[in-house]
Order: sequence, then structure tokens, then C-alpha cells
Amino acid sequence: MPTPEIRRRIARRLDELVARCRAEPPGSVANLYASGRGYYPPQEAGPEREEFAISVATVDGERYDAGDADVAFALQSLSKVFAYGLALADHGRDAVLSRVGVEPSGDAFNSLRFDERHLRPYNPMVNAGALVTSELIAGDGQAGALERAVALQRAFAGREDLAVDEATLEAEMATADRNRGTAYLMRSAGMLHGDVDATIERYLAQCSVHVTAGDLAVMGASLADGGRNPMTGEQVLPRRRARDVLSVMLTCGMYDYAGHWAFDVGLPAKSGVSGGILMVVPGKVGVGVLSRGLDAYGNSVRGTSVCRELSDRLGLHVFATEAEDAVLATGEPAEG
Ligand code: GLN
Repeated sequence: MPTPEIRRRIARRLDELVARCRAEPPGSVANLYASGRGYYPPQEAGPEREEFAISVATVDGERYDAGDADVAFALQSLSKVFAYGLALADHGRDAVLSRVGVEPSGDAFNSLRFDERHLRPYNPMVNAGALVTSELIAGDGQAGALERAVALQRAFAGREDLAVDEATLEAEMATADRNRGTAYLMRSAGMLHGDVDATIERYLAQCSVHVTAGDLAVMGASLADGGRNPMTGEQVLPRRRARDVLSVMLTCGMYDYAGHWAFDVGLPAKSGVSGGILMVVPGKVGVGVLSRGLDAYGNSVRGTSVCRELSDRLGLHVFATEAEDAVLATGEPAEG
């Protein structure tokens, strides 16, 4: 347990980080996304353009919030992490692997390219893969499966009141032609089997659950702690399945930037078009970031830069040998 002094120092470092990152432009190629309102160019954006939050939750159950940590935003693609975890928990690794691979696609999140050799989507972190994992979620009918998907998100965040935001879901359903097209194409090739509209709704409803950066941090800490939520003590996913999920986040979580992210930041992470990034330091902490401006890959611009900075300064890259996790408190950067 950190002493109050260490806690204060960590909080101060995070505040400084937020102040510095806020000063950066939210995104040059920016595409902004506002929950329930879809995408729009930055010049039409309101105050959400400037929002910036970073939260860190530790496996000891500590949480630090800085910036706009109580702003709620849609999980969007971040939900793919939990859909995959649930599909794995429901069906086991081999059954899920036969339906969705674990290879980076090198393509955009909404690509219509599939792994033709194995006749399955490349991985569960792109839309095609998430349509499969959504279809795989067990439950009593559509409502039962959806309830289980959201229940897992709640357990990960340790928040009973997480729910599908109806305005977001409506906006998503109204602009889902590409996802629908993807699903029909997949069903024609035998990669999906069920009712396309139901699968689309199931996937988009999970995307439409609203969270804060603090929730993301706790969700990340639950993955960091082998599927155990350190705030509630609940084992929300079997330990081995949490490892599977983190592995795929490391190789595929940042879409077609995943290779570069692994090279630079070196930590499992997942982004969503709402501007959220969930990053995990295995065995240590979960990080949640919100900043709406997106780059050409659909990843948060300032979110990417803050994650890179945290990883660099603290020596967190999984292949770094100079890890000094007390640095957040002391502010001394690890050797470059
Ligand atoms: N709702 C979005 C979609 O499926 C989520 C995509 C994302 O966050 N990258 O198109």
C-alpha cells in the first residue's frame, strides 16, 4: 500500500501529465466522435474536443483520476475485449479459436477482409471478429445474452449501474450498414450462423455502454490481476482467459497500428472510436484514457501519446529490462 505521500505524488504526476497533454492538439487528421451523435469534423465539435482524462487503477485496489475523469463515453470497440473474454469463458479456447483467429489483420477495424485460409475473421479485436464473439455469447435468447455481456462489463468495472445508452445505440443502429454488410458477407461464407440483425444489435449494444476513464482503469486492473477485480475482489474471468485476452490485445488491440504500438508502447491495449484507450501493465495496473480526437487508424491521438509517455518514462514496455515502477512517484525517467 502506498503511503499518503506517495499517493499525493502519483496524483500530482498525473495532473501534470494531463496539463501537458491537454496543450497538445487533440488530433490533426481528427475525426471526432461524440456519444450518440456519431462522427463529425473537429470544427463542428463542442467542448468534448478538449476533454481529457487519465485514470490509473492498481492491483492493490488504489485508483488515481486526473482531468475529466467523470465524463462518460461509449465503450465502442473497447467492448470487444469483454465479448472475447466471455466467448472464451463460455466455450473454451479451442472452440473460439475455430471461429475467430488471433492474428493481427494489418487492416482497418471495419475491414471486409477475412482469414481465407481458415475461413474466420483474423482476430476478435476488429469488427468482423467481434461479430463472431457476440454471436458466441451464451444466454437465454437475445436479451439473456446481451444481459450477460453487459453484466461482465459491470463486473469488470465494479459498477452495478453500467448500462446501454439508448441514444448511442440508436445512432449506431442507424449507421450500421457496413457492419450489416460485413455480417451478411460472413454468413454467406459460413463464418456467422445466426440472425444478422440480432448479432448486429448485440454487438452495437455492447459498444453503446457508457463508462468513464476511471471505469476503464478498473477494467484494465482486473485484467492486470488475472481476471480478478481488485476493487471488489471478484474473479470476473478465469485467470487463463484473462491471459488469452491480454495476448490478443498486445498483438491486435490497436487495429492496423498494433505492430507499431507493440514496438513503441509495448503493452496490451485496446482503443475505441469514442476516444478511449484501455491499457494494461500485467500484474500491476490498468490505465484508462479519454481524448476524442482520432488519428487515421481510429485511435485517440492524445491517448496514444500519453500511453507512449507513460510506458517510456516508467520503463513499462514488456521487453524493457530497466523497469522501475516507483518512477511514477519519483518522476525520474527510466534510462532511454
Ligand atoms: N461502433 C463502431 C463500429 O462498429 C465501433 C468501432 C470502433 O470503436 N472502432 O463501427
